[in-house]
Amino acid sequence: SEQIPHWLDKQAELNPDRLAVETYMGEQISFRDLRKRSRGMARALIDEGVKPGDHVAFLSDNTPYFPIFIHAISYIGAVAVLLNTRLTAPEIAFQLKDAHISHFYIGKGYEGIADKSAVGLEMKVKAIEELPILNELDYPLRRELPFEEVYTMMYTSGTTGHPKAVMHTYGNHWYSAIASALNLGINSNDKWLICLPLFHVGGFSVLMKNVIYGMSTHLLEKFDAPLVHDAIIAKGVTHVSVVTVMLQRLLRLLDGETYPKGFRCMLLGGGPVPERLLQETSKRNIPVFQTYGMTETSSQIATLGPDYAFSKIGSAGKALSLAELRIDSHKRGEVGEILVRGPMVSKGYFNRKEEDGIYLRTGDLGYEDEDGFLYVVDRVKDIIISGGENVYPAEVESVLSEMPGVRETGIAGRHDEVWGEVPVAFLVTEAGVTVEDVRTFCNKRLAKFKNPAEIHFVDALPRNASNKLLRRKLFHLLDGETS
Ligand code: AMP
Ligand code: MG
Repeated sequence: SEQIPHWLDKQAELNPDRLAVETYMGEQISFRDLRKRSRGMARALIDEGVKPGDHVAFLSDNTPYFPIFIHAISYIGAVAVLLNTRLTAPEIAFQLKDAHISHFYIGKGYEGIADKSAVGLEMKVKAIEELPILNELDYPLRRELPFEEVYTMMYTSGTTGHPKAVMHTYGNHWYSAIASALNLGINSNDKWLICLPLFHVGGFSVLMKNVIYGMSTHLLEKFDAPLVHDAIIAKGVTHVSVVTVMLQRLLRLLDGETYPKGFRCMLLGGGPVPERLLQETSKRNIPVFQTYGMTETSSQIATLGPDYAFSKIGSAGKALSLAELRIDSHKRGEVGEILVRGPMVSKGYFNRKEEDGIYLRTGDLGYEDEDGFLYVVDRVKDIIISGGENVYPAEVESVLSEMPGVRETGIAGRHDEVWGEVPVAFLVTEAGVTVEDVRTFCNKRLAKFKNPAEIHFVDALPRNASNKLLRRKLFHLLDGETS
């Protein structure tokens, strides 16, 4: 298959002294150092028995070890499986098994949960910070990156049911970064702030742009509105990727001011955006680019171009240069399922049935206006998006159905001012089950953002003739109820 020179070797050769990663704590890593430390870690991982093709799990906040780890993995030719830090031990245990993990590395603070989730599994759990950086040994490290080879796996639901691992190749990440550059352009003083989690593709893709463009990044451990605000005002940050709830918090800090002229892109994606928010950012001259994408498309697949940021407000733009987008409808302007294709689209999920079809069916609904701009309006898939994190009703239902005294479960999303949407539970139970019992049960098994915000006890759930749950009708159960 087609190969390219290792992208970090390239940057260390072309821009050795340029800043690659800077943290809010003031640590600065050049491309030369990033290469050195990544290769040093690769050797340590080889010493630990990591081999080409191995699936290596990683659970960590956004520390400098994150980029070093993922580049180390690429120097070996192993696969990085990135785990969501918000999950509970049973949720992580499922992914460790499902993804055939051989080694499990963790950042600070995740020792307890990692040990719990790896119980009974044959793998080493080890703190990433304890790995030595081995610079002296002459190990065979990759010089090329093959486009067709799987590099990362991240969990998402697809259009149905339970989490599955999306496989991304080097080529997927490469084309995603290039397509974005063809839209936004590259300047030598660009510095992209990362406050989205790196285990999601929205954050991860910035690390790819980092080494593919030779672009500087400013890394935050997690989202923190004042830190993001200060970095935009005073640290030369030119780009930030955010989800809706983050942008709302940033606006509150802006308080009449606006961002410096050099700030050129607030990339906003991951879920629907209230029109009011866009109007407000437009009034304040904040260059917000709405973008549409998903884990399966390795981040953005459509983004509103700079020239249209204000005239096509509410639109997610057009498919990026290397991508194609179609609406499954009869004529332009009509709403239908969004179909996408392009070299950034994943070939499928690990260990699941092959998807077929040339276009990926996204499970999202949208239309194109008379000028061909995409508007995302709804979803056919049953996911709930809460603060940028996805909640799969089927997964929450299956956990709740294991609770003693619970006979039937239905989960649906309702609008929430802060999080966009939150999950709500409708339960048919035996007498004696209390809201408190349900909360305790969920807390142990489900990440916080998946825990039902409301719990309703009902007599029966709406079902169709073949007994399938009609999630969209769940809220009708509350009609006439005073709440
Ligand atoms: P994931 O990659 O699993 O986090 O989820 C991607 C999903 O987020 C998409 O399939 C959409 O449902 C939703 N999404 C992403 N961008 C937008 C957008 N601009 N407008 C509405 N929904 C979006
Ligand atoms: Mg998302």
